[in-house]
Amino acid sequence: MQKITYAKGDGIGPEIMDATLRILKAAGARVAWEEIQVGESVYLEGNTSGIGKEAWDSIRQNKVFLKAPITTPQGGGYKSLNVTMRKTLGLFANVRPCKSYAPFVKTKHPEMDVVIIRENEEDLYAGIEHQQTDEVVQCLKLITRPGCERIVRYAFEYAKLYNRKKVSCFTKDNIMKHTDGLFHKVFNEIAPEYPEIEADNWIVDIGTARLADTPEMFDVVVLPNLYGDVVSDVTAQISGSIGLAGTSNIGSECAMFEAIHGSAPPIAGKNIANPSGLIKASIMMLNHIGQQDVAQKVNDAWLCTIEDGIHTEDMYNQNHSTHLVGTKEFGDAVIERLGNKPDSLKPEFYDSSVQITIPQYKRGAAKVKTLKGVDVFVDWKGEDADELAAKLQRLNGDVKLSMITNRGVKVWPEGFSETFCTDHWRCRYEVENGHPASKNEIAELMKNAIANDIDIIKTENLYEFDGERGYSLGQGQ
Ligand code: NAD
Repeated sequence: MQKITYAKGDGIGPEIMDATLRILKAAGARVAWEEIQVGESVYLEGNTSGIGKEAWDSIRQNKVFLKAPITTPQGGGYKSLNVTMRKTLGLFANVRPCKSYAPFVKTKHPEMDVVIIRENEEDLYAGIEHQQTDEVVQCLKLITRPGCERIVRYAFEYAKLYNRKKVSCFTKDNIMKHTDGLFHKVFNEIAPEYPEIEADNWIVDIGTARLADTPEMFDVVVLPNLYGDVVSDVTAQISGSIGLAGTSNIGSECAMFEAIHGSAPPIAGKNIANPSGLIKASIMMLNHIGQQDVAQKVNDAWLCTIEDGIHTEDMYNQNHSTHLVGTKEFGDAVIERLGNKPDSLKPEFYDSSVQITIPQYKRGAAKVKTLKGVDVFVDWKGEDADELAAKLQRLNGDVKLSMITNRGVKVWPEGFSETFCTDHWRCRYEVENGHPASKNEIAELMKNAIANDIDIIKTENLYEFDGERGYSLGQGQ
């Protein structure tokens, strides 16, 4: 018996969880269930992350968590439970298989069978945001080498295990050359280790357009967190219904399984929600814990139900639906078909060892890091960049003002009068003679700035790593 933590969640959560647990029990899942409370009621008790200590203890002890969707209360101050869970438990990989079940479920893409693998912890989800001036707020996008290596390797290992032919990488590295550039670079480093799997790269905008138009072109897609968030919902939706897909959040210790949709409050308690997303998540969970026999049985029965036209409202269609059923009745229909094999829908392949182990990250030898200057961010309400430059040039020492940009656009020297400027100026000081700068010079620059009433809101050191520039030159460079 494997102990598994579960939460019924909010909205349609309890109904779809009830149907799912009944199916798993009837299919003979060897599981001892432990229920925890998370979500709306916990938030409203004053816990800003929607989960209490006992619930954490249960998940950390059992290591596997089946979660129904929860409602995040309106208003500020509440942190996303999912983001908290992913980051706290190190659930670095979000895996979302999106497959069509044509002709039984209506879709424009009857051939699609795509798995989205989304990095789950980094990127703009670090949650580091600041207001810096009256007019400007910023959010830090953090991409790390260990994070990229882990998710890219996971994508290739997943492709290998599930006999997939291709892994595609989506980034925007034509603009974000250092952050998305690192993700792309790591992808190019790891791909040759899997010569049997084709690898290709896409800029995320055109890649998403092609994926939405011709999903048959894609197999496994690996992406940084934010793109993955958007692209995985688009992909699930075009497969037929958002109510059909399950997802897993995998870490090296723990794993969380859930439907991809939310708690759908308007249809809660009406016995009309489709429980398939959570059922699919539970099949992924059974597979993860090594109960492939049960996973196979539940998936086959679910496919038979879909083939027999027993459909909830969201998938109901004139041509292929025979019975419009509620959440509970859909669950009953799956239970009735346990042991049956589908006629035309292809069964999934479940192998015996499905836990993907990623080697521990090994930090390479430290690179030679050379300080070349500093970007000083200044809050200034003036309009003429030449006037600001004249003030700032008075601070010149061994590091000298070389450039001012506003929202990444160069406004000094030789700015254009047409460029719109806010009150947030990035002022770059660099060494001129090619020698390294010193931190004392930078500290001196700060002191002089304070003495000259210049409002510095942030600084960012400029480094070379093994002689390679580690900062952008300007917008998109
Ligand atoms: P939603 O996914 O709950 O609903 C979007 C639309 O899809 C609605 O029309 C809904 O009726 C329909 N829908 C969703 N699931 C369905 C199902 N199983 N069967 C039939 N129709 C279904 O998204 P939302 O309305 O943006 O969010 C509602 C709440 O859910 C919010 O509080 C949000 O924070 C939360 N949410 C939770 C999770 C999670 O716990 N993982 C994920 C997304 C949203």
